[in-house]
Amino acid sequence: MITTDICIIGAGPVGLFAVFEAGLLKMRCHLIDYLPQVGGQLSEIYPQKPIYDIPGYPEVKAQELVDNLMDQIKPFKPTFTLGERVDHLAKQEDGSFIITTNDKTQVHAQVIVIAGGLGVFEPRKPALENLEAFEGKGVTYMVKNPETFRDKNVVLAGGGDSALDWTIYLAKIAKRVTLVHRNETFRGAPDSAAKVFDLASNGKIDLILSANLKEISGNGKLETVTLETKNKEELNLEADYLIPLFGLSPKLGPIADWGLNIDKSAIEVDTRDYSTGVDRIYAIGDINTYPGKLKLILCGFHEAAIMMHSAFKYVYPDQKLSFKYTTVNGVNAF
Ligand SMILES: Cc1cc2nc3c(=O)[nH]c(=O)nc-3n(C[C@H](O)[C@H](O)[C@H](O)COP(=O)(O)OP(=O)(O)OC[C@H]3O[C@@H](n4cnc5c(N)ncnc54)[C@H](O)[C@@H]3O)c2cc1C
Repeated sequence: MITTDICIIGAGPVGLFAVFEAGLLKMRCHLIDYLPQVGGQLSEIYPQKPIYDIPGYPEVKAQELVDNLMDQIKPFKPTFTLGERVDHLAKQEDGSFIITTNDKTQVHAQVIVIAGGLGVFEPRKPALENLEAFEGKGVTYMVKNPETFRDKNVVLAGGGDSALDWTIYLAKIAKRVTLVHRNETFRGAPDSAAKVFDLASNGKIDLILSANLKEISGNGKLETVTLETKNKEELNLEADYLIPLFGLSPKLGPIADWGLNIDKSAIEVDTRDYSTGVDRIYAIGDINTYPGKLKLILCGFHEAAIMMHSAFKYVYPDQKLSFKYTTVNGVNAF
């Protein structure tokens, strides 16, 4: 079991900055995110898009902001569980919580901060009859650890940036990579599409266009992926892994069942400290709602600062908190 002062659900920009605000008050954080990387919407949806409304940055690329936030919180040594979804929350007799993820990781924390943004980004799944039977047995929707695919036959499906990027990456380590796409052209970055066409023409990958996934089969684990081409021909591919990358759609997910006040998929909070009405549970960033709420990164940063000052009383019940600027205390590492 992981033990921490504050467990932050969601490692988007707001969850990350909350670590800094907690660290200034000597509170340790553990973050959990369903995505395999930190950065939330910024890293997942628009890493190369410039952002113009972060104070002090006339322009910053989304991924650069995430990288800078990671640098900023480094002194406070946050710990992470990535690629896992928080499913369950159990209140303990002393008021603290035990959180459990879908992979059964458990975190014990005095305070829970929900910085879950738009919710869990659930993968869009292909319509294959026996898909669920092969999930975790060859079918996977994200690349958590590329080494899993070393020397394996991997079939990727999709036409966006993730499908292109992972095809390029896995071509270097897999035994054979096949990319299947239902169209002739790609939605992803033209530069990446050009690299994929190059790899195919040099025989480094197999590229099968205008084809759809039709069937998967195997004995206890995935062995064959069957495709259907636009001419209704069937193709059988030997496969250890199938990675359908058809995009992600956000859902509030399990958080909706935790007894919080939910209004249109957002958690209602008290703007004095962004508490949820359930003792020791706070909600900050895009996931919360209150009169006048703006879904902006800088608003989430503000909420994180106020919220952590309120949470201090649960972590240090015997201490009185007095407000100080960072110039007085400095950023003291743990
Ligand atoms: C195209 C686009 C452009 C934008 N441009 C700007 C801009 O220029 N300026 C600006 O200020 N804002 C912009 N925004 C909005 C900005 O991205 C959001 O306000 C910001 O991402 C909110 O941060 P967050 O940390 O609250 O949530 P997110 O970034 O959504 O992160 C939340 C994280 O929580 C995780 N999560 C949720 N539930 C669970 C669970 N149960 N278990 C585990 N993990 C969970 C998710 O996987 C996600 O990674 C833009 C948004 C989009 C889509």
